[in-house]
Amino acid sequence: FNRELQRSEKMEIISELAASVAHEVRNPLQVTRGFIQLISGKSKPSEREYLHLALVELDRASGIITDFLTFAKPEQSRTTILRVFDEFKHIEGILTPLAHLQGGRMVVNIPDGIWIRGNSSKFKQALINIVKNSIEALREDGQIEIHAFLSENKVHIQIRDNGEGMGEEELARLGEPYFSNKSKGTGLGLMVTFRIIEAMDGNISYSSKKGVGTEALITLPAAEG
Ligand code: ADP
Ligand code: MG
Repeated sequence: FNRELQRSEKMEIISELAASVAHEVRNPLQVTRGFIQLISGKSKPSEREYLHLALVELDRASGIITDFLTFAKPEQSRTTILRVFDEFKHIEGILTPLAHLQGGRMVVNIPDGIWIRGNSSKFKQALINIVKNSIEALREDGQIEIHAFLSENKVHIQIRDNGEGMGEEELARLGEPYFSNKSKGTGLGLMVTFRIIEAMDGNISYSSKKGVGTEALITLPAAEG
């Protein structure tokens, strides 16, 4: 007999496929990047311009993978009880070197005993996209602070940076697909983040001031450890 696939099943198949493709595609992109840089050093200025464009496009392709699929794994949609402390240990490990590259530092303060329900890969993807934006916004003496606390059966997670900040107009457009102010941005990071947080029955809000910094506040239902 003929059974139609449910929409969610289809989505699951597509995201599993995308996940495995992403892992396979990332390495050849890096290798290609290396070779182009190598040739670029030995070529005429007129050629170098095209090679530069090729690099920009390659970076866009890796950016899309990073924003969507950093942690994508098969069995994507499985949810478990997550210990917030452990999730942030992993996120901190990945992003601290990136913060240092920008001359900034990261302070993570997550008490033990805070639990949420979700998919670990997706949760990490959502948070990576937020923190990566903070890192990319850092200027002199850059600092990012991440705190979490439990209050009235809700888990609150704060990500605060002292980066370049945003005006009202930018703030209103956050999460809109393809909205980006970066030359190498995808404008997909926060769209993905907002969807993941919503799917976890959570809420996310931003406040920001141009020239001062930005704060993201996530609220999620607390789970029993
Ligand atoms: P992308 O990072 O590829 O540009 P995002 O969806 O991650 O796409 O972010 C969209 C835009 O929101 C960014 O280009 C940036 O202008 C703005 N933005 C997001 N987070 C911050 C932040 N912490 N500080 C300053 N601007 C931010
Ligand atoms: Mg981003």
